Amino acid sequence: MATDTYWQLEHEYYTIATDHDLIVRVIEHEDIERTEGEGIDAKIVKDFVPNKVHEFKVKRSVLANSSEYFQKLLDTNSSFKESQQSRIDLLGDEARSAEIWFKILHGSPSGLTNLDITIKNVWEMLLIAHKYGLDPKLPVAKAWFEAWWIANKKKANGSTFGFGEYRELLFPCHTFEYAPGFAAATKYLAYNTIGHITEQRPNGFHHHHLRLDQGIVQQINAAKGRLKSILHDGLYTPIEKLLESSRCSCKEHTLYAYQKSLTNTEAWPLEKKFSKNSITALHDKLEGFSHTALVPKMCYDCRIDFGHVVHEAVRNTSSYFDGLCLDCMNTSKPKFGDADEDYWKHSRQGVSWDFNCRIRHGQPSWYFSFMGRKQKMMEWVHRPRYRNRSDS
Ligand SMILES: [Zn+2]
Ligand SMILES: [Zn+2]
Repeated sequence: MATDTYWQLEHEYYTIATDHDLIVRVIEHEDIERTEGEGIDAKIVKDFVPNKVHEFKVKRSVLANSSEYFQKLLDTNSSFKESQQSRIDLLGDEARSAEIWFKILHGSPSGLTNLDITIKNVWEMLLIAHKYGLDPKLPVAKAWFEAWWIANKKKANGSTFGFGEYRELLFPCHTFEYAPGFAAATKYLAYNTIGHITEQRPNGFHHHHLRLDQGIVQQINAAKGRLKSILHDGLYTPIEKLLESSRCSCKEHTLYAYQKSLTNTEAWPLEKKFSKNSITALHDKLEGFSHTALVPKMCYDCRIDFGHVVHEAVRNTSSYFDGLCLDCMNTSKPKFGDADEDYWKHSRQGVSWDFNCRIRHGQPSWYFSFMGRKQKMMEWVHRPRYRNRSDS
């Protein structure tokens, strides 16, 4: 260690393990842009400029056991020069996130103040995990993320995560397999998004290879589409009845008055309003529904409590979707052999839809959490529930 490229930079030291036998240096850097070449050949190139050194004192064996990458790098029989050294350098990683990982791997993440760790730090942790093959599904990693979620969910002013935060938390919840968080985020987005639901990376995080599977994003959007249908069915039922079976002379007035009252809320016609409003916004508008009958003496068929109809439509839609369930998703993923048997168990009579799941949910969450082959779900849709599913 006679000459060290980074000797003149600021150093910060961290003791992760008191019985340490390895130093990992995370070289913090800045990307400085400069122009290379001239005229039409000119192009912008990025230079990796180190600006600070973070030194972590860790256990060699812990790191070697954490991933294949570190195992190969630190194996004393390997040809890597790092394998013989008591110090290794990691370039281009974020020190804060590396620190959390080292603490997790050494089994001591409790000393962390989770409120100081941002969503961007969490994404940077997942970037490190992806780069070095660390496992976010380690029990100690999952427990850490749960603690982080609980600490950060409740803000000082009593509010919880908002729209942008939930979009940024889909991927971390999925990768750390945190079922309550994933259900909360997917539920929130299904009810509160205007237009198509997409996930979002934190500001300044540009690593596009970290993303949710598009099939999952599709399922959240499908659930949102279903919420619209449930709301529409609830609001439309009296109209359908009047159109199909009423013979009285007041039906035209009744039809007009109801649709006029709905239109006054600005939530109707639903198909038109849905593209510019979230389900929650439509619910809020419908809360203001007020109805006056146009004809003083209505027939029996037309004496409909429209206020109750609207209230029930909103109530049914509000309680319909509990979010996507990671456990149902896992059991329905395409596998070889006896595929998704655990998933179909839930559709048997007497077995609850959330049987063996970490979150409580109803049939819709089970249905939209299906990640297997579409054809299979379609077969199920056309069969009554009481049929034994063991043949499927
Ligand atoms: Zn009538
Ligand atoms: Zn489930």
